[in-house]
Amino acid sequence: MAAPAPVFDSPDPSFGDLLAARPALAMDSVAGLMVEEVPLARIAEVVGTPTWVYSATTLRRRARSLIAALRDAGLDASIHFATKSNPALAVVNLLHQEGLGADVVSEGELRAARAAGVPANGIVFSGVGKTERELRLALAEDILQLNIESAEEAEMLSAIATSMGKRARCALRVNPDVDARTHAKITTGLTENKFGVPIAMAPALYANMCALPGLDPVGLTVHIGSQIAHGMGSYLTAYQRLGELVRELRSAGHPVLRVDCGGGLGIPYRDEAPGSPAALAGAIKAGLGDLGVKIMLEPGRWICGPAGVLLTRVIVEKRPMTRRFVIVDAAMNDLLRPAMYEAWHGILPVSPHAFHAPLSPADVVGPVCESSDTFTRDRDLPALPANSLMTFLDAGAYGASMSSTYNARPLAAEVMVEGNRFAVIRDRQSHAALLEGQRLPDWAT
Ligand SMILES: *Cc1c(COP(=O)(O)O)cnc(C)c1O
Repeated sequence: MAAPAPVFDSPDPSFGDLLAARPALAMDSVAGLMVEEVPLARIAEVVGTPTWVYSATTLRRRARSLIAALRDAGLDASIHFATKSNPALAVVNLLHQEGLGADVVSEGELRAARAAGVPANGIVFSGVGKTERELRLALAEDILQLNIESAEEAEMLSAIATSMGKRARCALRVNPDVDARTHAKITTGLTENKFGVPIAMAPALYANMCALPGLDPVGLTVHIGSQIAHGMGSYLTAYQRLGELVRELRSAGHPVLRVDCGGGLGIPYRDEAPGSPAALAGAIKAGLGDLGVKIMLEPGRWICGPAGVLLTRVIVEKRPMTRRFVIVDAAMNDLLRPAMYEAWHGILPVSPHAFHAPLSPADVVGPVCESSDTFTRDRDLPALPANSLMTFLDAGAYGASMSSTYNARPLAAEVMVEGNRFAVIRDRQSHAALLEGQRLPDWAT
């Protein structure tokens, strides 16, 4: 199935607009497009393509501005980076240095966060289907908090904690039935979604959790969706509903020490105008500010999305009839968002000449054998002859972390830049590694 071309009612931002809004990028008239002070052409030469390139300075700056916004609003808050958006150890480690913990959704992410240096007491475990093995590991590691998504999971955790002689600090994930007005595939706060428990059921469930052996209920958690980019309305409603629920639970005599406010803050991929950290902090304060609860936040995309680009090389330009296809060496197995969510990513050429050359509409596609392996349609681009370099912008979140090896394509390399230095933080997967662990059945001749 071909990805439908999204319809926008505004012209695409120009190369100049894209660049101006992204402080980590600069166009040098000789070296071409740079991340911080490192020319992308140099990274392509040394590391090859496709390659993910992350700006450490951008990660730091964004972590700091979120911390500052919460502090300025007078909130007692901790931030737990949603590891699923970018689980690279170097990224999680850098954010830990900036004072962030981690929000994990699997054993693999829990292990990655620990390997990146995040202490167990900085880790929150979310997710609608944690296995017994995962719950046991979380308890053995004594992580900060387990976010419970159902009555059934509370019973399961209680039984496991009791059998291990442990107490499980847990929060109840509430589904506040608000529409985050984001893409249907990334909205999570409606009753029809699989996440959390309906808010009407929360008082009875929380009371039950308080009565279950081995559980220490510490509060509530909510996450209404991702890439929330239509103002603060959905957040305000969700946090107000949570605030009312906190009061109700307390008046029933239950302890509520924390509210985990989830993630979801959107970023401008094209010309969206999502709320700022200050606006988010304001919504939290409005709904929960006078309850004396400790606030937690689980941002992913907002922190790391704008910090990364996917660097790719043109294989060939093909011009059948009147169409123009730019075929690049990155594909949907690397950056899945366009195929999966019809997502729009800015594209910038790397060469300074291409940056100022005349434009004509082109479809940019990968080599994978699917029509949905299309990054964009009818984008105004300069001539991009074979071997030209270009970048997909804002690819630092849900980029590498959603990659697959479809079409037996090895996972791309990952690079971190800071100032004029760069380091490979993950090697390009080898073809040998792709075949590793496979064998023929012993009855094959
Ligand atoms: C995915 C997720 C997040 C992070 O979402 P972003 O949109 O990347 O901020 C936070 N909390 C939970 C429970 C999630 O599932």
